[in-house]
Amino acid sequence: MIDGFGRTIDYLRVSVTDRCNFRCVYCMPENGYPVSPKDELLTFEEMARIISIAADMGITKVRLTGGEPLVRKDLPELIRRVREHKSITDLSLTTNGFLLPEMASNLKKAGLDRVNISLDTLRENRFVEIARRGNLQKVLDGLESAIRYDLSPVKINCVLMKGFNDDEAADFARLTIDRPIHVRFIELMPIRWNLDSTDSFESMSALRGESELFQLRVTSDDGMLSDTEMRRRMVSNDVAMARIQNELGPLTPAEITTNGPARSFRLTGAGGTVGFISQISNDLCERCNRLRLTADGQLRPCLMSDGEVDLRGPLRTGATDDDIAALISEVVAHKPERHYLAEGQKVTGRGMSQIGG
Ligand code: SAM
Ligand code: SF4
Repeated sequence: MIDGFGRTIDYLRVSVTDRCNFRCVYCMPENGYPVSPKDELLTFEEMARIISIAADMGITKVRLTGGEPLVRKDLPELIRRVREHKSITDLSLTTNGFLLPEMASNLKKAGLDRVNISLDTLRENRFVEIARRGNLQKVLDGLESAIRYDLSPVKINCVLMKGFNDDEAADFARLTIDRPIHVRFIELMPIRWNLDSTDSFESMSALRGESELFQLRVTSDDGMLSDTEMRRRMVSNDVAMARIQNELGPLTPAEITTNGPARSFRLTGAGGTVGFISQISNDLCERCNRLRLTADGQLRPCLMSDGEVDLRGPLRTGATDDDIAALISEVVAHKPERHYLAEGQKVTGRGMSQIGG
């Protein structure tokens, strides 16, 4: 599939649930989002059907995400169904890692290729403040399980926030030296649902001085970082890279399979790599190859623009495979050229956990 700007579209991210067992401050309000009623969520059968149609149209890479995909205990069942499609050559999962210790073995047996584990701090006290549920040790155990069951290359996704965990960039990079771990830094994106009613950053907390920086103040009344604070807290990947090189020496360009949009590097003698996904500072839109299917069956051409097309309704009212394929083609044809965050665009229709980050 080729979109209107000549980009090949071969990657589908599928959100298998909008529920989550964490409440990361940049992703969800303290009490969570209102979740979709169960009957509005796609069944695994419906997801597998859409994936199968998309695979016939040229999708070769599928990533399962959420919400937290591992809260669906029957996830291996979906993985088995997707694996039946031989043209899908890369089947991966993004998870917060908390339930991986008990699930990694079955995920591997079902046919999952690899995992990305999201982890923003290696310090328990900060973990409690960022994720607000779960605990660090269990996520680290999940990382070990991913390595043990060869869900590789095992990647860590880390979002740095200015004045809060950006002093850990080198600690994360250090993980790649002795272990087959690939750390990727993802720039904080100002995406949140229902923004206008909660974006009260200016009045509630200006960043007043160094001493206050190391408190991660949630500055909206729903307990999630506001749009403004997310923009202010964003650490550009150039800054993260410079910090790592200052502490640990040069990063030299490296190639790994499944690189995706990351620019990857290696510390001297390291087994793993350090990658940077710079969707804010270094617009990745030019090479964007993906579509996103939400847990409630909406197909989106772009993470950062609110347009989407309903597939669930047609699926449940007798649409043929050709009908669904036509809707997929329409979404591809309407994929926007780029995001406009730098120009002040706000993404408010859904939060990350509702889209499938
Ligand atoms: N629950 C799973 C997890 O955390 O890996 C999968 C879904 S989560 C929405 C996917 C990824 O989105 C995570 O790596 C998370 O750090 C990232 N994410 C969520 N909100 C973000 C934001 N505002 N900016 C940048 N990354 C964000
Ligand atoms: Fe849940 Fe992932 Fe969002 Fe954290 S980033 S709240 S783990 S969906």
